[in-house]
Amino acid sequence: MPNLNKNYEKLRKNYLFTETAKKIAVFEERTGRKVLRLGIGDVTLPLSSAAVNAMKRAAEEMGRKETFRGYGEEQGYAFLREAIKKYYADRGVSVSANDIFISDGAKSDCANLSDLFDENNTVLLPDPVYPAYADVNVMAGRKIVYAAADESNGFLPEPDENTRADIVYLCSPNNPTGAAYAAEELEKWVRYAIQKKAVILYDAAYECFIPFGGFFDKSADDAGKNRAENGKDFPVRSIYEVPGADQCAIEVCSFSKFASFTGTRCGFTVIPAALRCKNVSVKEAWTRRQSARFNGVSYIVQRGAEAALSEAGMAENERNAAYYMQNARIIRESLQSAGVVCYGGYAPYVWAKCPFGMTGGEFFAFLLNRAQIAGTPGGGFGKNGENYFRFSAFCSRESALLAAERLQNVLNRGV
Ligand SMILES: *Cc1c(COP(=O)(O)O)cnc(C)c1O
Repeated sequence: MPNLNKNYEKLRKNYLFTETAKKIAVFEERTGRKVLRLGIGDVTLPLSSAAVNAMKRAAEEMGRKETFRGYGEEQGYAFLREAIKKYYADRGVSVSANDIFISDGAKSDCANLSDLFDENNTVLLPDPVYPAYADVNVMAGRKIVYAAADESNGFLPEPDENTRADIVYLCSPNNPTGAAYAAEELEKWVRYAIQKKAVILYDAAYECFIPFGGFFDKSADDAGKNRAENGKDFPVRSIYEVPGADQCAIEVCSFSKFASFTGTRCGFTVIPAALRCKNVSVKEAWTRRQSARFNGVSYIVQRGAEAALSEAGMAENERNAAYYMQNARIIRESLQSAGVVCYGGYAPYVWAKCPFGMTGGEFFAFLLNRAQIAGTPGGGFGKNGENYFRFSAFCSRESALLAAERLQNVLNRGV
């Protein structure tokens, strides 16, 4: 009988998310009342008609002898890589189509990229952040060090010269906080990576929301001020907007949030040809890894993704992004007007400091019982999230408005 990977025993149990789901179900069963679910980080608006029509056409092609296709091009079809190159170029960022790899999503790539690195490497993670980064590195047995994201730095940690790390994960805009780095701040990370010979894995899954973001929280201190007020503070959408990033950074992105592809599955990763570790090309190592382990994303889905990037597709995607961000604004303003301090603003989440001195777990119970609202306790994303709470704005406008009304009532009434 084989031995199981011992590292799996070190994984945090997924208590929090199972526990909250169970509590919601028990509450609904007991009271017969429907809970407003603002805990889930999944899109709710459908695919664009541009993407749907392209996938229908592609399915038809697959059903005809003349246009049928088997295994696709290794890095993904050139038509999609070219469309992604243009998506960057439209924002003034130059990326070579040869450096783009199509994937079935950002989560797989964020996890799989760690395969390239030895288990003796030290990984640096922001705290709080998307939990998958920690999990995969625990599974691989790597040492993890944390960079605290908190009120003092506006939830945007800066590199510490005294911390040694080989692999740095950055998520901007951040899930769960919605904080996003401006070029000046990312420059510090790029400088750190070059100096320490570290590689940055940059998760840009929420970059499309940046143009629709930017909030001003009058009750927060300077770190929480509206960064959009000052042009140079406006967050960047790609790490490649920072000079030198092509020597130290891999960018992972996804169609999930910006084109409603969470159930359709497509993402992409950029590994610049200039990125080398001890003189080995990281791009070549990744190509080798993928050729052994991955046979690509379906032709139909790649055609859908291409269409999502077309002018018509983008118009629909942008309308959806604006819709979610307006939901976030509605929820956030309701919290703020009841005196709750909120942070972030560049992802469709509201990151709120729990009122009444509560922890995230206590605030969860309070909102569930008093307002029939379910969100996510911040502790699920890291130690520094303990006293915070994430509301997801991937909901309908009706839900956002109802949540805003209930939050007002319950918060003004107090404990
Ligand atoms: C949702 C999300 C993703 C997207 O993952 P996919 O596998 O592409 O669906 C990636 N990173 C973060 C931080 C996310 O929240």
